[in-house]
Amino acid sequence: MTDPHIRKRDGEHPQSRDLSYPPLPQALVVPVYDNHTHLEIADGEDPLDYRVQLDRASSVGVRGVVQVGGDLETSRWSAEMAAREPRMLAAVAIHPNEAPRYEAAGQLDAAIAEIDQLASRPRVRAVGETGLDFFRTDESGRGAQFRSFEAHIEIAKKHGLAMQIHDRDAHAEVISTLRRSGAPEKTVFHCFSGDADMARLCADNGWYLSFAGTVTFKNAGNLRDALEAIPRSQILIETDAPYLTPVPYRGRPNAPYLIPHTLRFMADHLGTDVGLLAAQISSNTELVYGSWDAEPVTQETGSPYDKAIDSSDLA
Ligand SMILES: [Zn+2]
Repeated sequence: MTDPHIRKRDGEHPQSRDLSYPPLPQALVVPVYDNHTHLEIADGEDPLDYRVQLDRASSVGVRGVVQVGGDLETSRWSAEMAAREPRMLAAVAIHPNEAPRYEAAGQLDAAIAEIDQLASRPRVRAVGETGLDFFRTDESGRGAQFRSFEAHIEIAKKHGLAMQIHDRDAHAEVISTLRRSGAPEKTVFHCFSGDADMARLCADNGWYLSFAGTVTFKNAGNLRDALEAIPRSQILIETDAPYLTPVPYRGRPNAPYLIPHTLRFMADHLGTDVGLLAAQISSNTELVYGSWDAEPVTQETGSPYDKAIDSSDLA
């Protein structure tokens, strides 16, 4: 198996981007976790194998990742990989922008039923990313989004797993859905995109805010205000790789090894020590997802990709 990736990054005028991976940052002294990444999505002129990405991450103090699925194929892949790779835990879900597609094909219920099954697999510790996206999906797809989101909330609660929320241009509706359905105990706003008021509201509910490279972007004053507005006990950090690469490498391929840039930026903005913030975020992350070492990985040989690739005949 030469090409390990099951997805190519799409869109965004590749010719206008610098497609090379940024250099390794200075290593962190106190490690952190990347709680939201997509290692199956290939990006850049020379896409990095997931093992190389994890090796680079380890070398700069990024101890582990939560690998996140967004449809059946990537959710299966995430569960499969996490079962074999000690530095990886998995999250499984039908993404809010995928839900209308499954619904149109008459397959949404079957897809949700399979997510429910995947949620019981070893080292699957979260349901996500699920939620609402009114930016990419128009009115006609919203019924499917709500139905899928509500079903994922129930799956997370049934399995006692954390839930990772994708919220794009849908803050009020996401919050009202969580209140109506009852949020899972460990609820994470992945790539938090609200303001300080929303951040306070989330923190008051015990929900977690995960900050991505967007917090370093020049025009993201709302995210920096949000970061300042909440207790440190509610902060998580992520890359959402290969997207949202932090400054000074915005636009280039992202990977978990680049999280030190975001962490240092956050520590600087909060006027705190990088090691102290890392320790707090690591403990928050383990409270939400459990320990990366708590369940053993399976020691199978051969290429773990064969199955993932063979299963690409999906909805
Ligand atoms: Zn994501």
